[in-house]
Amino acid sequence: MKKTTIGVLLCLLFCLNQLFAQDSKQLLKDLKKISSDGFQGRKTGTIGNQKARDYIVNRFKKIGLTPFLPNKNFVQNFPIKDKVDTNKITEGRNILGYVAGNLDSVIVVSAHYDHLGMNKNGDVFNGADDNASGVAALLHFAEYFVKNKPNYTFVFAAFDAEEMGLLGAKAFLKKPPVEVAKIKMNINMDMIAHNDKGELYAVGTFKYPELKKYFLTSNHKVKILFGHDDPKLGSNDWTNQSDQGAFNAKNIPFIYFGVEDHKDYHQLTDEFKNINQTFFINVSQSILEIIKNIDTKKDIKTIFRSKLKM
Ligand SMILES: [Zn+2]
Repeated sequence: MKKTTIGVLLCLLFCLNQLFAQDSKQLLKDLKKISSDGFQGRKTGTIGNQKARDYIVNRFKKIGLTPFLPNKNFVQNFPIKDKVDTNKITEGRNILGYVAGNLDSVIVVSAHYDHLGMNKNGDVFNGADDNASGVAALLHFAEYFVKNKPNYTFVFAAFDAEEMGLLGAKAFLKKPPVEVAKIKMNINMDMIAHNDKGELYAVGTFKYPELKKYFLTSNHKVKILFGHDDPKLGSNDWTNQSDQGAFNAKNIPFIYFGVEDHKDYHQLTDEFKNINQTFFINVSQSILEIIKNIDTKKDIKTIFRSKLKM
């Protein structure tokens, strides 16, 4: 090889490395910020939740996502009735933006941004893994697809009130900004940054085994396992345990990415210092590869048509 060719190759490798390092830095920065004490555990209806929302909306703007009109501020409000005092209504607020693709068929990428708030002593449930991790990855994917126009139209949804029973996702599907019939798939992330064995679950291929092929071509640095989606597993069937459940209720195909429960799950210790940073960065890269596979495979429509009997 000529010296100049080697030079160009080395430069290219260096540039790619730099780009990757930059992406990783932003991913961790977002995760750290969203799970910081200042956001007070992001419980629906609280100031902390509002602060987290302001941060995410600003990131949506900076990334260059498009809002659904008339909600120029990216926010979709929905009412939540108090279970005990039914006159008391809390406003839930989803954050929605999109990237127009070549097709008007839609893939919804989602992650909930709300969490448990604080305990009586004022200690913060930071929810670094649950689910600042999913939101940080969602921002990363949004940035990628703004820069690289997709085939499908991608809706990015940071849902509120997941911890109260998937309420944000249900409200989204009750009043969707696009026709439900156009939504071909949901990719949901909830807890993707904390597993000591380096394992991530992809849930949904029990119902949609054809989706497995989009995982095969990727060179994953994490171990991606299929499972937690057989109804026979009872409470270990995660199909309806996060926001993808609301899509599943409408028979919209889904993949949910998440880790096994861990010692910090719904504890005060689910904080930035306890996540697995390298694992999280690798997981984000792998999920993006899978989404790209889904977006570029020509035969995806046949799969969905056969499943949905469209
Ligand atoms: Zn969660």
